[in-house]
Amino acid sequence: MTLRLRNLGSGSSGNATLIEAHSGTTCSRLLIDCGLRVSEVKKRLQACDLELSDIDAVFVTHEHSDHWGHAASLCRRLGIPLWSSEGTMHAVLGEGADLDELDWNQATDGVPIDLGDLQLLPFTVPHDAREPLQLCCTDGDRRLGVVTDLGHASAHVVRALQGLHGIMLETNHDLDRLRLSAYPPFLKQRISSNLGHLSNPQSAQLLRDVMHPGLRLVLAAHLSERNNAPELARAALAPVLGCNQAEVPVADPEQGSDWWSV
Ligand SMILES: [Zn+2]
Ligand SMILES: [Zn+2]
Repeated sequence: MTLRLRNLGSGSSGNATLIEAHSGTTCSRLLIDCGLRVSEVKKRLQACDLELSDIDAVFVTHEHSDHWGHAASLCRRLGIPLWSSEGTMHAVLGEGADLDELDWNQATDGVPIDLGDLQLLPFTVPHDAREPLQLCCTDGDRRLGVVTDLGHASAHVVRALQGLHGIMLETNHDLDRLRLSAYPPFLKQRISSNLGHLSNPQSAQLLRDVMHPGLRLVLAAHLSERNNAPELARAALAPVLGCNQAEVPVADPEQGSDWWSV
């Protein structure tokens, strides 16, 4: 069995992350979020020798356009299931939405989802969206957490992320850069609120709260291009990991990341 992750793009310009579980004979691939145009997803998949048709399902964490983006058109085109909370679906498509050939499936906090070789466990996060969910993924052996877009690490989040072997973790902003940035005050307030995004020290604290000897992979993600920098995110996480700053992988907004096995 192998469980691995490849980020295809991270941040406000569009998020998409591929999770793959391989049993030796069968393989399941999940795309988490589709904030990129379908043609762009195709291009980034081809860069790792995959096609759109290699995706088995899409999970959308919440309705913000950098996450939901083009998920519905991708799923309609490929005839594959789209999973999200009911609140997320309603926020995008409206109440009483006509799903019109969209194979939409309801994801709920704490209710496992079986996708062949992959099992997902969604959990609620505090973020200014209608019913945001983030995820733990497992192949039955290893556990991988994906957690971005949260204003703080609630006790629920910390509990959900125990016992991981790998995590893709939001390190959204540096506090000084955000304070000094040209963003209007309401936006600074939104980002730094309890329902906004994790600052570098908040990410480091969350990592401390879930750290154990089996957690080997930490990928920093969803960095603000204006209010953060890879070296600042690395400087925050490296002391928790006990490694050199250069060893902390950071997902690039445009290029994403390499494959990381957990
Ligand atoms: Zn986002
Ligand atoms: Zn968001």
